[in-house]
Amino acid sequence: MVTFSPFDVTLWYATAAAAPKTEPLEGKVQVDICIVGAGYTGLTTALDLARSGVRVVLLERAEAGFGGSGRNAGHCTPTFTHYSLPELRTMLGEPWAERLIERQTRANDRVSSMIRDYQIDCEWVQNGYVMGAPHKGALAEIKKKAASYNAIGAHTRVLDRDEVEAITGSPRFHGGWLHEEGGHLNPLGYARGLARAVMQEGGVIHTGSAVIACDRNATGGWSVKTEKGEVVADKVIFSTGAYTVGGWPKLDRTFKIQKVFVAATQPLDEETRRTVLPKNTTIHDGRGDIYVYKYNAEGRIVASMFPMGRRGRDMAYTRQVMSDRLKWLHPQIKGDLRWDYFWFGELDMQYRTVPRFYSLAAGVVALTGLSGRGVPTGSMLGSILSEWALDKPESELALKLEPLTAAPFYMSFGPAMTLRYYRIRDNITARLSGAPLPPHA
Ligand SMILES: Cc1cc2nc3c(=O)[nH]c(=O)nc-3n(C[C@H](O)[C@H](O)[C@H](O)COP(=O)(O)OP(=O)(O)OC[C@H]3O[C@@H](n4cnc5c(N)ncnc54)[C@H](O)[C@@H]3O)c2cc1C
Repeated sequence: MVTFSPFDVTLWYATAAAAPKTEPLEGKVQVDICIVGAGYTGLTTALDLARSGVRVVLLERAEAGFGGSGRNAGHCTPTFTHYSLPELRTMLGEPWAERLIERQTRANDRVSSMIRDYQIDCEWVQNGYVMGAPHKGALAEIKKKAASYNAIGAHTRVLDRDEVEAITGSPRFHGGWLHEEGGHLNPLGYARGLARAVMQEGGVIHTGSAVIACDRNATGGWSVKTEKGEVVADKVIFSTGAYTVGGWPKLDRTFKIQKVFVAATQPLDEETRRTVLPKNTTIHDGRGDIYVYKYNAEGRIVASMFPMGRRGRDMAYTRQVMSDRLKWLHPQIKGDLRWDYFWFGELDMQYRTVPRFYSLAAGVVALTGLSGRGVPTGSMLGSILSEWALDKPESELALKLEPLTAAPFYMSFGPAMTLRYYRIRDNITARLSGAPLPPHA
């Protein structure tokens, strides 16, 4: 039996607006489209379809937002994590690259309009995202990034040393990249708000309803079965991500799990908040072994990192790393940092770390492999999946359909090794350029 990291220990579980009331599926229902999995991908697909007047049922094994969508760190940056735009173009080819780039880089327009239109209570703040340059050498990459994103209409700019300090409150960066459209939110509040919006538009959501089988029926449609019920649908979409349990044979082999952890401090006092992230942006410390953080609405700093060696295994040491790193970045933080909340979650990693769209059978597709950039990505994927459900020709979709492809064995250890490699590379480059290293680097 698969076990996932605990969900009810997260900051978001303690602070998100309540979920709409939903019940498990009982008996048989007939609809046009059945969606499996109530994360951002499934919820935004259901929302688009319900708005188009399609009869849609969404089945969720646990509750809306139980997966990555309810437990992530809440950064919503409409970029690609692992690839530059030129790399994506080489990897995906045209027209696929340009279509996906367009959806991903405009994803925050979609996130903010859904939040506005349905008045979703989720602490949404769109004050930008800053990637710091930890040493002078990092500025060349940042300039290239800014030029490639600006060329396709994103609102970003290169910051000099003084500006980056004024925006982030950290004296450690040699410059930075500001993506003005970046935002952050309470991820579970957002997922629950999307669920409410789906229901408001006439979509039906059943929670506590794990899909255990999906079979073709005598009339050419699909019969999607849960323990106590059945949905008969023309088309089925699996959007079960890293939290896939059954549903379709071998779907859980399309990715390997990479753990990541998130922690939240006590609410910081007003004076500290005036100088640490004074513009309420999200910060990425610019290292490949990523440290990303931002405030929640209560003024807690919410930060995330990947486990590595003792980090993530020895919890006292891990808390020390989190505190030392934050205080090094912001020497103005005085006193102890308590990490009141600490939780882990699972990412669905594929060897090409962009979402993977699988054709499982005529009328059945799945989407997994978001590989860690899921708040904007899951939110924009709903637009692609709903277009598929509404019969847009395959050749015109923004993602290429492919046969179900198992993640290669090396993805079990590849991402962790890549992070180690980045750590060593960044340490050497920083040393060579005379920049100090952060603690526990
Ligand atoms: C700790 C953590 C931090 C992260 N931080 C960030 C961040 O700051 N910014 C960012 O952009 N991304 C972040 N991510 C990534 C992002 O959260 C995910 O990529 C995204 O939420 C995935 O959305 P999804 O809809 O594809 O899947 P999920 O949200 O995982 O939803 C899948 C759903 O399918 C359900 N399900 C599974 N099997 C069945 C079945 N058989 N029947 C019915 N239902 C089923 C699950 O219960 C689950 O609710 C983070 C992820 C984690 C885990």
